[in-house]
Amino acid sequence: MPDAVLRAMHRASPNIYEGELHDLTDSLIPDLKAVARTAGEVAIYIGNGHAAWEASLANVCTPGDMVLVLATGRFGHGWAEMARGLGLTVEVLDFGQQDAVDMEQVTATLKADAEGRIKAVLVCQVDTSTGIKNDVDAVRVAMDAAGHDALLMADCMASLGCDVFEMDAWGVDVMMAGCQKGLMTPAGLAFVFFNARADARHKASVSAWWNWRPRVRPAMFYQYFNGTAPTHHLYGLRVALDMIKDEGLEHVWARHATLSRTLWAACDAWGTDGPLRLNVPDAAMRSHSVTSIGMGPGQGDALRHWCEHQAGLTLGIGLGREPADAWFRIGHMGHVNAQMIMGIVGTIEAGLIACGIPHGQGALRAAAKVIAAG
Ligand SMILES: *Cc1c(COP(=O)(O)O)cnc(C)c1O
Repeated sequence: MPDAVLRAMHRASPNIYEGELHDLTDSLIPDLKAVARTAGEVAIYIGNGHAAWEASLANVCTPGDMVLVLATGRFGHGWAEMARGLGLTVEVLDFGQQDAVDMEQVTATLKADAEGRIKAVLVCQVDTSTGIKNDVDAVRVAMDAAGHDALLMADCMASLGCDVFEMDAWGVDVMMAGCQKGLMTPAGLAFVFFNARADARHKASVSAWWNWRPRVRPAMFYQYFNGTAPTHHLYGLRVALDMIKDEGLEHVWARHATLSRTLWAACDAWGTDGPLRLNVPDAAMRSHSVTSIGMGPGQGDALRHWCEHQAGLTLGIGLGREPADAWFRIGHMGHVNAQMIMGIVGTIEAGLIACGIPHGQGALRAAAKVIAAG
């Protein structure tokens, strides 16, 4: 989180009835839509990504409806569990933990659904547990090829403001995200973007809390959040969106791309000797916001602990992996720059040495070359 975001949040309680807070909230809407590349709507909830999962489903599905989940890691399965909990019938196409969604399977599955039972196709653009990035644009093409009219719903929690995403151009009907990853604001705001096609399938049975309609273009300010606004988060998000705007979204995407290639170059060098491997073999299917790395049993945890306690670098756990302690993840989303990434590479190198984990030479040099080339 940028200091500027935290500083903006460090203030007394604002007037929630009128004035600055209302204007500031109104100003967030077009900027959120710009980051999502949509002319559609955005509903904001006080909540985390799980809240956005539920909100996205509750507005367009009722118990008994079927959804198709394209899973490439733990988060795809998590969204599926949320759907089951809401009484939906869930079909999961599981592509494992190292491969992106196979579009031929998507088309075949949708073609087999001649009665149109599937109401929505759910896909994570980036599954944060595996670091796999899916081609959301191609999912729409596969759906169209099958002549299926299900809604396309994308989870961009880990990728919004990091990886290229074009909601309208790619034909995404519903997109959910949160504020605490690429949008650089403490956890607490959940976003559901939707287009007219999705809103045409809005269910009147949705609860007053999850209903997205009063939250967009609200007649009264309090309807934005169905109660008291998340005041300080809004000030923080204002600054975060200003930072993205000032840098330029395309530049933000390009920065994430370069910094990702920097990390991968280091990993390739470490992997020339010893157990360290990038989880996703095909670079085109790798996220620009999180990288998952495997080693031998116990080595992932050992490295994480050393980095955390000896060097102040917190790495991600091996979420959803077997054995989990062989894995670790690097989060490189949002407020990251070259010196942070070089710091990560240097710290991991020190950790590998300290933990006695065999590794190839030249990782820092390989990383530096990518940075130097821009
Ligand atoms: C983080 C994340 C979620 C869940 O968000 P929470 O805020 O932890 O509830 C969902 N999907 C993806 C892809 C994520 O990265």
